[in-house]
Amino acid sequence: MLPFKLVYHDRYDLNLGAHVFPSQKYRLVHEALLNERHADAADFLLPEPARDEDVHLVHSQEYVHKLKTGTLSYAEQLRLEIPYSVELIDACWLAAGGSILAARRALLDGWAANIGGGFHHAYPDHGEGFCVLNDVAIAIRRLQMDRAVETAMVIDTDVHHGNGTAAIFGGDATVYTLSIHQENNYPYPKPPSNLDINLEDGVGDDDYVGILEKNLHQAFEEFQPGLIFYVGGADPYREDQLGGLALTLEGLKRRDALVFDYARRHRVPLAITLAGGYARRVADTVRIHVDTILAARDAAQQSAAKA
Ligand SMILES: [Zn+2]
Repeated sequence: MLPFKLVYHDRYDLNLGAHVFPSQKYRLVHEALLNERHADAADFLLPEPARDEDVHLVHSQEYVHKLKTGTLSYAEQLRLEIPYSVELIDACWLAAGGSILAARRALLDGWAANIGGGFHHAYPDHGEGFCVLNDVAIAIRRLQMDRAVETAMVIDTDVHHGNGTAAIFGGDATVYTLSIHQENNYPYPKPPSNLDINLEDGVGDDDYVGILEKNLHQAFEEFQPGLIFYVGGADPYREDQLGGLALTLEGLKRRDALVFDYARRHRVPLAITLAGGYARRVADTVRIHVDTILAARDAAQQSAAKA
C-alpha cells in the first residue's frame, strides 16, 4: 500500500511505565497507520537486533559490556534518565537493528522509515537523555563498512540538539550533521554539528520553516550525501512538555515536507527515525509521527510520478 517499507517491532517499547517518555508511542503509531488504512501488514518489516559488532562500530567495549551485564553505575543510570531493564536493552538493540534495516531499504527503494530510533543523545561511551545506543550512527557506520554508502547526512529536527551524533561524527568528513533545535534547552554543552541552527524560545511555523529552508540550501551546497538520515522529533510542537518552540501540527507537516522535498529533488535516499515527542496528549505525539510517514509517502509518490 505504501511506496516504501516501514520497520517496526512490538518490543520497541522501552518498558518505562509512567514516564514523560511515552514509550508505548511506537505501538500506537504502528496501530494508527494500520487502523487509518495508510499501511497494511505487508508494508512492515521486522528488524533483527543489531549485532554486537555493529554496536561496537560506535560504542566502546566497556559501555556495551555494562549495558549487557546490567552494571551501569548509579550516576550512569541517572544520566540516562530512564530506568534500566532487560527489556530496555532488548528494545535498544532492536531499534539499532531497525535503523540499519531502514537505511538498507532506503538505498534500495529511495525511502524507508524506522517506527522507532533517533536516539541522538547517546555518545560512544555513555547514554543520556533517554538515549542508550545511537542507532543512526550505528546504521551509518554499518553501511559504510559494507561499502553500501560512502557519505551520509543527518538532518535532525528534534527540539533538542543532536549532541551524541555531533560528537560521534565530529571531524569525520564523510558524514555531515545538521541540527535545528531550541538553543535554551538540554543538552549542555552542545558539541558542534557541521551546521547548528540555534533557535530562540517560542519560534513558530513560518519562522521555523524559513530558517530551515535557508539552512537546508546551505547544507546541500556544502555536501552531497549518498544517504540522508532524518531524525524527525515530534517535540518542536507547541504543546510539548520538554520543548520550548511553538510549531503547530500544520507547521510540523511543512517541516517534514520541506526536508523530503530536498531529498527528492537531490535524488538522495532517505531513512526516517522518529526521535522525541512529549506532548501533553500522547495522541498528538502519535499524530505528528504518523504525519511524518504520510509526508514521506507524498514525496515518494511525487518522485515516482516524475521518474
Ligand atoms: Zn528531543
